Amino acid sequence: SIQDVYTLANGVEIPVMGLGVYKNVDETELETAVTSALEFGYRHIDTAKVYKNEKGVGKAIKKSGVPREDIFVTTKVWNTDQGYEKTLKAFDESLEALDMDYVDLYLIHWPMPGTYVETWKALEKIYEEGRARAIGVSNFNPHHLQDIFNECDIKPMLNQVEYHPHLAQPELKKFCEAHDILLEAWSPLKRGRMFDEPLILSLSEKYGRTPAQIILRWDVQTGVSTIPKSVSRDRVRENGSIFDFTLTEEEVGEITALNRHERVGKDPDKVT
Ligand code: NAD
Repeated sequence: SIQDVYTLANGVEIPVMGLGVYKNVDETELETAVTSALEFGYRHIDTAKVYKNEKGVGKAIKKSGVPREDIFVTTKVWNTDQGYEKTLKAFDESLEALDMDYVDLYLIHWPMPGTYVETWKALEKIYEEGRARAIGVSNFNPHHLQDIFNECDIKPMLNQVEYHPHLAQPELKKFCEAHDILLEAWSPLKRGRMFDEPLILSLSEKYGRTPAQIILRWDVQTGVSTIPKSVSRDRVRENGSIFDFTLTEEEVGEITALNRHERVGKDPDKVT
C-alpha cells in the first residue's frame, strides 16, 4: 500500500512514497498538495529550507488532523548555511518554521566543497539530541560519502539523488546498497520529460497505467524511495496509486537499461 515502508540503518521506518514540494511557494497550492496527499494516504513529505515553504508545510500538516507522529517529514540544510555552527542555527530555524520539535529526516542538500564534513558533524549532534530521527545527505557521490566515513562517526542513512530511467545511477546505487544507505529519488519523473519513451508508453498500455505510474513503480521495485511532486489533486492521487500492480523482473531491467546518464538538475561534482 501507499504506506509501505523501508527500514533505515538505524531502524527508523520511512514510507516508500513521499510528496515533493519543491517550488510550491503559493500557500493555497501548497496546502492543496499536502492536504490531498495526506487524504490519499501519503505519510511522507519532502521539503527544504531553500524551498521557503516549511511554514506552509507545517500548517497544512496541522490542519489535516493527521497526527504529527504518523507523518515522516524531511527537510534539508541549504548550501549557504553549511558549516558546524551555521547548520545548527539553520536547523533551529527550520524547526521553528515547521512549528515542530523534531524532524524525521534532516539532509545536507548538496555536498558543498570544504564544508560538508563539518556540516555532517552538526547533523550528528542534532541526531544525538533526538531532534532528527534520522540523518542523511543529498546529491552525494561515493567520494563525498567516503569522506564522511573517514572523518565522522555516524554513516548517512539515506542519500537523496536525481534518479529516473534516464539517470539510473548504477554505480552510486550499488555503493549505497553496500553501505546500507537508502537511495531516494528526486525528480523521479524527470520533471515530465520522459513520458514519450516508447518502452514506458508500451508498458503504460499493457498495464492500463499512466507513464508516470510506470516510472514510479520502477522506483519502488528497484528499492528506491520516491518523492514525486505535483500540485494537482488528481496527479497526487495518480502518483500514489502504484501499489496494486507489479512490473515483471524483465520489464524492470528493460527500464533500467534506458539509462543514458542524463540529468535535469545540477551535477553534484560541479556545485559551488
Ligand atoms: P518530478 O520529476 O517530481 O516532476 C514534477 C513535475 O512533473 C510536476 O511539476 C508536473 O509538471 C509533472 N507531473 C507530476 N506528476 C505528474 C503526472 N502524474 N502526470 C504528468 N505530469 C506529472 O520533479 P521535481 O519536483 O524536481 O522532484 C520531486 C521532488 O524532489 C521535489 O519536489 C523536491 O521535494 C525534491 N527535489 C530535491 C532536490 C535535491 O537537490 N535534493 C532537487 C530537486 C527536487
